[in-house]
Amino acid sequence: MTGPGNSAPQKMAFSIDDIFLWRGVPFPPGFDALSVTESILHAFETHGIEGVYLFSSTAPLEDDPSLARAHEMWTDAGHHIGNHGHAHASLNWADPDAFIEDVRRSERFLSPWLEQAPRKYFRFPMDMWGDPREKTDAVLRFLVSSGYMTAPATYWFYDAQFILPHTRAVTLGNDADRSKLVDLYVETGVHQYQLHRQQLTRVFDREVPLIGLAHGSAITAEALSRYLGRLLECGVEFVSLEEAMTDPVNAYPPPISTPMFRNATQKWSEALGHEFDGVPPTDVLLEVDAMSPIDGMDYDTVFGGMRQQAAAALGGKVDAAQFDWRKSH
Ligand SMILES: [Zn+2]
Repeated sequence: MTGPGNSAPQKMAFSIDDIFLWRGVPFPPGFDALSVTESILHAFETHGIEGVYLFSSTAPLEDDPSLARAHEMWTDAGHHIGNHGHAHASLNWADPDAFIEDVRRSERFLSPWLEQAPRKYFRFPMDMWGDPREKTDAVLRFLVSSGYMTAPATYWFYDAQFILPHTRAVTLGNDADRSKLVDLYVETGVHQYQLHRQQLTRVFDREVPLIGLAHGSAITAEALSRYLGRLLECGVEFVSLEEAMTDPVNAYPPPISTPMFRNATQKWSEALGHEFDGVPPTDVLLEVDAMSPIDGMDYDTVFGGMRQQAAAALGGKVDAAQFDWRKSH
């Protein structure tokens, strides 16, 4: 059995974001950025996946410079580092000058690895490219002048929504929830892969190389090898980001501005007038969100607080309505 249609392999450039997580979002007991890095690198080695780009907010490196070891481990294994901004603020929340300064600030923590990569890539935090469009244009002028390519995300499966429930399950020693969360992570990831692939094929009437991502979390450390194995069984062929970026769908920004949390496949669909159902996987996310509750460790408190902190670092403010995963689409 291979993937939908038993057709040619689906090319996918995989990437990892935020190996240090974010200021205000802790790792569960028994995990840290270095142990997670080691597990992720092992998963790539197991499946022969090479040249993977890592995009991390660098504010946690300011708090603990010893975490830079993760970047050494990453590049020593033959993978690459891109820029994802320092504070992990959305351009939607900040003015372009403050955002550009934040990208420059991150460069101080990314040297020399950024320059060693085959290309200099920038990934907008949360794939939010700026709303209104004038903000996008101002930042693109800076990025192009500074030699950056932009790396979109064309496929994701809301793995960030699994981070906090998994942290709570580990903290509580709830092994049943912990193991169920890993199962749901893998199943949701595979299903969302299939939906995004079918959608791009429908919108463009051809196979488009996907650019996928998962976050550098403890649950990714536990689930990634199984997940990548399932993608391979579905007919995925992992390719470099450089190869995926030769397709115009990936090379050009979708011609639409939105304040909402949307990946490039969602934006292209909206721009070209195609419905896209099943994303986000609301039912699963609500189920996951309710698992292993701990007072004060709920999504709105922890992720909401993290985003407010990131926005404040750039003198901006978050609109929580931009993250509408509780509603089905
Ligand atoms: Zn990120």
